[in-house]
Amino acid sequence: MNLGSYLTRSACHWPEAEALVSGDRRWSYLALEREANRLASALLARGCTPGTAVATLSGNRGELVVAEMALCKTGCLRVPVSTRLAAAEIEHVLLDARVRLVLVDAANLPTVRAIVDSRAPDCLVVVLDGNAGDALGYAALLAEGDPGPVAVDLDEDSPAVLNFTSGSTGTLKAAVQTVGNRLSNMRKLAMNPQGSTGPGSVYLAPGPITHASGMGILGCFFRGAAVVVLPAFDTEAYLDVLERERVTHTFLVPVMLNMVLASPTARSRDLSRLSSVTIGGAPVSPARLRDAVELFGPVVNQGYGQGETTSAITFLTSEDVLRGIESDPELLLSCGRPVFDTEVRVVDDGGNTLPAGEVGQILARGPDCVREYFHAEEATAETFRDGWVRTGDLGFFRRDGYLFIVDREKDMIISGGYNVYCTEVEAALYEHPAVFETCVVGVPDERWGETVKAFVTLRPGAAATGDELREFCATRLSRVKLPRIVEFAERIPRNRNGKIDRRALRRRAWAGSERQ
Ligand code: AMP
Repeated sequence: MNLGSYLTRSACHWPEAEALVSGDRRWSYLALEREANRLASALLARGCTPGTAVATLSGNRGELVVAEMALCKTGCLRVPVSTRLAAAEIEHVLLDARVRLVLVDAANLPTVRAIVDSRAPDCLVVVLDGNAGDALGYAALLAEGDPGPVAVDLDEDSPAVLNFTSGSTGTLKAAVQTVGNRLSNMRKLAMNPQGSTGPGSVYLAPGPITHASGMGILGCFFRGAAVVVLPAFDTEAYLDVLERERVTHTFLVPVMLNMVLASPTARSRDLSRLSSVTIGGAPVSPARLRDAVELFGPVVNQGYGQGETTSAITFLTSEDVLRGIESDPELLLSCGRPVFDTEVRVVDDGGNTLPAGEVGQILARGPDCVREYFHAEEATAETFRDGWVRTGDLGFFRRDGYLFIVDREKDMIISGGYNVYCTEVEAALYEHPAVFETCVVGVPDERWGETVKAFVTLRPGAAATGDELREFCATRLSRVKLPRIVEFAERIPRNRNGKIDRRALRRRAWAGSERQ
């Protein structure tokens, strides 16, 4: 078994079915299989054999998807690199992973060229689009290969992907996903009652497919669904594609959801084909979930996971969301119940399982959970213990098994000895009609140690003062949780995964203070 062989199987089952759409180009399953085989055999001939580290650094495009499938077939160690990384970080990734070949788009070519020329002269560069200049172009590499089947047998424990993340944790480190982790991820996608795609369904991936959540598209090929990729997230382009391609399944991080909800054209679109809109990657407020159901219909669900767990570990189904809206408002604050094949525990500092209602660290265990970070023993020992992933998130279980995330451990505010969870304050602020986006952080306070500060952007044309927002929150939150400081901002910064960058705002708020 290897991660690419199921594409061969799907191409046998559904040769003419649409597999991939990118801009004007469309690939049937057979065409995708043959192009991926061509690329895989060319890569193998160039020495990219199982275990060789190959990086991809590109905006979303069809060739990138083909390359990911080809790399699955060769058994190479895939190193997807975010285009949002700074040059020094890209250099760190390429050197740390000992990358032998980089598949890069023209926009990122100069950065890669400079790194390779000065630090890794043996590394081959392949340009996925545009004019390759004196580098090797995608088409030229493809011409070296053969469209016949490529099958390299791999052990389930072989490393398959180095998933470098830093967005939510601060430091750049790679979760090592094995072939077994990825296969289990496919099984999960196939078993998931909501996110499950199949022949006839169309999945739109709006975010970067080099990010862990984007890799979910590979699961679609397992099931015969079509995948549409967008070059970069643009609200109107996203809505156009939803309509034009009659999209049935899609995924949005909360920031994107917010942008879609604010679009003046969203409500006049025909979105009737949608059967699943999954929100994930960061906390989403109940207010926005309700807005999402109003726009998309009763198809909105939520997944919670992280790079270290490969895929979602809990899932709030569309039925749960509806029940939350109709009769159980608290449920909209939950990220759902553990999914198939995954155990989730909430523990205290001593590692003891806590009863329902008590807040502790969330731990996960399952066949898609990662076991180590790459070249980072200390971080490995801290995060992975006895087969469990310590997520770094704080939460609690309700009696009926629903998990509630209250914060990331490091983001929690301690004010006068009370724990204040940023997401709870944000959820209250999102209920206010003038609030477009918000991010809450703790700031130093002489009397209380820390106090609550909210950065807020308002909807166009809307007005509100800090006092108004505080009064509004006072009807929903206890005094200690009220945002004593409200700063209105033009925009709220994003991290490289497109999520709200709480750390940057925290730094800004703490600037000048000794405790950072
Ligand atoms: P990353 O590995 O960079 O994708 O970040 C994963 C982190 O994002 C998790 O550990 C959570 O803190 C947060 N996260 C992801 N999904 C959700 C969700 N549905 N609700 C709340 N937080 C989430």
